[in-house]
Amino acid sequence: MDTGMQSGGYTMRTDYSTYLASSEWQETRRRTLEAHHNRCDSCGGRYQLNVHHRSYQRLGHEHPDDLVVLCRPCHKAAHRPGTFEHRWFRVRQGR
Ligand SMILES: [Zn+2]
Ligand SMILES: [Zn+2]
Repeated sequence: MDTGMQSGGYTMRTDYSTYLASSEWQETRRRTLEAHHNRCDSCGGRYQLNVHHRSYQRLGHEHPDDLVVLCRPCHKAAHRPGTFEHRWFRVRQGR
């Protein structure tokens, strides 16, 4: 287990791609897909699913709420500044 938030974590800029290639992330990714029933959180689609980080602040020890499952079109939309992520966030937070 992690002993502290800083130790053993990853930093966005330098280690993100390394992290995505790690078995640690593969396992987190697999668990996330399972928890979300292998469906896109936005449209319910089942194909070309990605696990998307809503927050990179806990990279390496993500909170389940930091991660969402998105199909490719929705994932693309999530990375476009503005629209999608905001809409999704509101729904999820019940605001
Ligand atoms: Zn989708
Ligand atoms: Zn993403």
